[in-house]
Amino acid sequence: MAGEPQDDCLFCKIVAGHVPATIVRETKTTVAFRDINPQAPTHILVIPKVHYPNAAELAAAEPALAADVLTETKAVAEEEKLESYRVVFNTGAGAGQTVFHAHAHVLGGRGMQWPPG
Ligand code: 5GP
Ligand code: ZN
Repeated sequence: MAGEPQDDCLFCKIVAGHVPATIVRETKTTVAFRDINPQAPTHILVIPKVHYPNAAELAAAEPALAADVLTETKAVAEEEKLESYRVVFNTGAGAGQTVFHAHAHVLGGRGMQWPPG
């Protein structure tokens, strides 16, 4: 069920402390940690502590929590001193989503092209 921890979810395990991660920020509702396979000098994931399979379901069920995630992307960018950065919510396998617990990627520290591949 949405919002409930999922036994088979990697990011629920990171929230629970059962899988290690380099956590850079934590709030009552969110955790931010470094991506294990960074695609930019700064690559941090911001997730809600509760489980939703993607950003769309998170936004539909708990818009205030979705706003918390977005607010945290700003806080992360400030902490990392990023002047320019990209926030990405891959939503669905066809868009490149591989972990089905909603998350924002915060990418920065290098130049970027648009549109992405
Ligand atoms: P997605 O492809 O679902 O948008 O993003 C999932 C991200 O999670 C990928 O960028 C991937 O590198 C990252 N990731 C996968 N496994 C782990 C892990 O065990 N620890 C951390 N910190 N990041 C992970
Ligand atoms: Zn989860």
